[in-house]
Amino acid sequence: MEASDPLITLSNVTRSYQTEGVEVNALKSVSLHINQGEFVAIMGQSGSGKSTLMNILGCLDKPTSGDYCIHGQPVAELSNDQLAALRLKTFGFVFQRYQLLSTLTAAQNVALPAIYSNTEKAEREHKACQLLAKLGLADRVHHRPGELSGGQQQRVSVARALINGAEVILADEPTGALDSASGEQLLDLVKALHKEGVTIILITHDPKVAEHAQRQVRLLDGEIVSDSAANRERQPDGKQSNGADTVQAFSSISVAAALAMAFSSLRLNWFRTFLTLLGIIIGVAAVVTMMAIGEGGKQDVLQRIEAIGTNLISIRPGGANMRNSGDIATLTREDAVALEAVTNVLYVAPERSSRATMRFGDNDFSGRITGTTPAYFHAKDWEMAQGVFFTDADVDTYAPVVVIGDTVAATLFEDKYQAVGQYILMKKAFYQVIGVLKSKGASAGGNDMDDEVLIPITTGRLKVFGRPYLSGITIKAASTEAVETIQQDVVRILTERHGKEDVMVRTTDSLVEAVTETQNTLTWLLASVAGISLFVGGIGVMNIMLVNVSERKREIGLRMATGAKPGDILKQFNIEAWVVCILGGCVGILFGYIVIFILSQLSVSVAYTLMPPVLAFITSLAVGVVFGYAPAHKAAGLNPIDALAED
Ligand code: ADP
Ligand code: MG
Repeated sequence: MEASDPLITLSNVTRSYQTEGVEVNALKSVSLHINQGEFVAIMGQSGSGKSTLMNILGCLDKPTSGDYCIHGQPVAELSNDQLAALRLKTFGFVFQRYQLLSTLTAAQNVALPAIYSNTEKAEREHKACQLLAKLGLADRVHHRPGELSGGQQQRVSVARALINGAEVILADEPTGALDSASGEQLLDLVKALHKEGVTIILITHDPKVAEHAQRQVRLLDGEIVSDSAANRERQPDGKQSNGADTVQAFSSISVAAALAMAFSSLRLNWFRTFLTLLGIIIGVAAVVTMMAIGEGGKQDVLQRIEAIGTNLISIRPGGANMRNSGDIATLTREDAVALEAVTNVLYVAPERSSRATMRFGDNDFSGRITGTTPAYFHAKDWEMAQGVFFTDADVDTYAPVVVIGDTVAATLFEDKYQAVGQYILMKKAFYQVIGVLKSKGASAGGNDMDDEVLIPITTGRLKVFGRPYLSGITIKAASTEAVETIQQDVVRILTERHGKEDVMVRTTDSLVEAVTETQNTLTWLLASVAGISLFVGGIGVMNIMLVNVSERKREIGLRMATGAKPGDILKQFNIEAWVVCILGGCVGILFGYIVIFILSQLSVSVAYTLMPPVLAFITSLAVGVVFGYAPAHKAAGLNPIDALAED
């Protein structure tokens, strides 16, 4: 059969390499014309430029100068994706060293280029099995390359070249690694394909192999020195014959296909995958745990604030522009009585305190002594552990009695349960202990709340404080909603009574606000420390992925040579990083919850909220996106020729 349609036209193509400043001209002005359906052998000694020529023909490489047209279309004008489409559909490569992926079965190797032409999985596998059967490998479909002979492996690579219906087979020394019998078999196969209409360009240094072709082209030092078809009439310029249909780039591989590839490559190296995951797992678990601890601490503190008493309004002397030092003689008991009239006020407790030392036997306690009324007991939600609180009658009669907190009782008495009824000495006077308050533990600020020493305010004024002014007034509101209006009324009434605004009014709400803010800061601090470990985990992912790319150069080169676009490679490696990070994120969240559970069993206060896991998950995904990009970008930027040359 006589070939007719112009397929490949090279005119004055050169290719020079620049190595360490020395220019090597691998091809010097090569002009070649190959028609559809031809079987051409390109011959030449080692180093004559055969592989360089094949790489240019197969669109893996570009000429330094000169024109290359396929179907009359100048290759120089095509985009990278269009070139990938040419490698995918038009060309099929057969390499001297087969270039099969050792981890894939024969069928999977054959089906590889079909992934990039977006062929359905089932169809890919069916086609691959059909092709293998046709090439006499029906019973080797599920074997891996290591389990196949050289001749069989080379037939697998021919099947791979054919799966997308290649028009041109480019074979670079396909028999170079085969024994003579397998070589003959392969050449028969190639001839059969030629009969079916496939254009064959076979590169060989062996004249006997070249004899199988219809046409022999001989290269020497980068120049064509003989062409058996040279005397044949030249075709008119190909550019005019068939310039209409442009090469269509293929759409990117599906996410499902990329995911499948990611999972299979992660599974192959599962131990390394696990180590990579570990970095993310620990990071995410740390974020989740730290935030739960921070949040738990906050709720703990808020509960303690509640223990101080809720719906409290605290009035202290000293206005916004007064110095708040020492005794400010503005608040009086009469003020406190006046405030009892405000609506929704449950209790008004006047307070006057100073520092004092108490003694019982040989034991001393130094602390704050507070003179007040029974309203104090109710306003602050105290309960009695032993004895009773002093009454209004005790206040009216200047009774020398004292009610003490748990800490005070424990300090002064050998046995705190023996405190009630005893007399303690304070400022040269004796007071009888009539009650011990039930312990409230430490307060929000870490202060001991059980160091109270309470005496009737009248007694205090007479024997301890002297002057009649108050250190403060505490009001208990009937409800949280009432707090704000009471606060306003208090300011109004006291301003009226004093003729100016000279008090500061605070509510527990404002304390809660302040504490919440501090605790939130703490939580974020913990979370950011944990975040750093997540970041380190991310660097681990990047590191492993970079190693991965270096190790898989040959695979990447092969994928590109068989038609993968740089975008496809980018997608594959990005998705691999995302899969690692998402998996790590999920396991990390689980792991974090296990730690939280264990901590809660050890009575560390922790809180389960939705935010930390969501945040940790998003962060780990972001880590994948950010740290997966550089390796993926490196993979996509590889030159397939260099990558294939790797051993
Ligand atoms: P063949 O396949 O006929 O043995 P090649 O096409 O591989 O020959 O090489 C032709 C010439 O180009 C040789 O001299 C080789 O050293 C040089 N060459 C090939 N590839 C490169 C490269 N990537 N960088 C520098 N020189 C190269
Ligand atoms: Mg070569």
